[in-house]
Amino acid sequence: MQFFDRLLLENRAWADDMKASDPEVFQRLHQGQSPAALWIGCCDSRVPAEQICNAKPGELFIHRNIANLVHEDDANVSSVLEYAINALEVDHIIVCGHRGCGGIQAAVSGGDALQALPYVDRHLGQVKRLVAEHHVALEQFSQLSQKVDHVVELNVIAQVERLAEMRLVTDSWQARRAPSLHGWVYDLASGHLDEVCRREVEGSGSESAEPDWQRAAAG
Ligand SMILES: [Zn+2]
Repeated sequence: MQFFDRLLLENRAWADDMKASDPEVFQRLHQGQSPAALWIGCCDSRVPAEQICNAKPGELFIHRNIANLVHEDDANVSSVLEYAINALEVDHIIVCGHRGCGGIQAAVSGGDALQALPYVDRHLGQVKRLVAEHHVALEQFSQLSQKVDHVVELNVIAQVERLAEMRLVTDSWQARRAPSLHGWVYDLASGHLDEVCRREVEGSGSESAEPDWQRAAAG
């Protein structure tokens, strides 16, 4: 059987299983969506957002790109953010990176690693700048994989910081004190997710929308 035939066949099996455990599920999903969170993750095939946290259809609004980046000038991610924050009114935005990320590794390796991939090269510009900023700190790591995993964390924190400065987010904080921002890293070797940072509007019912950094223990 061809791979794509298997996928089509598996779809019917999945739909049957879903209905067997919850007969109304598709009628309910057909009515509309009200996801609690926007997930911004990497495209990597080994990091399927819903599966790794057992989320059901309708619970996560998802955007994925190489190395889970937020670009202000990227209409794709900006439109997803706008729709998630202003139309769906999600309460949380999760930025999820992962150890061993190929996009981050390409940016860390530098040189001509991206010469044959000009679109990817341009997309990863902000990661290359992040690597340059932390060049001295990265020298403490002898292994490339250690450098990559450190930049994976720095990159997640940078994306959460970038989100916290975006007008879409700060206006929403003023209007409805949400969404809170979460930085997570997924470990391919263990299947575990860990929190790297969190940022949310401080207090409740206050006029001030000053955000409060909550830097969780990074592991
Ligand atoms: Zn990746």
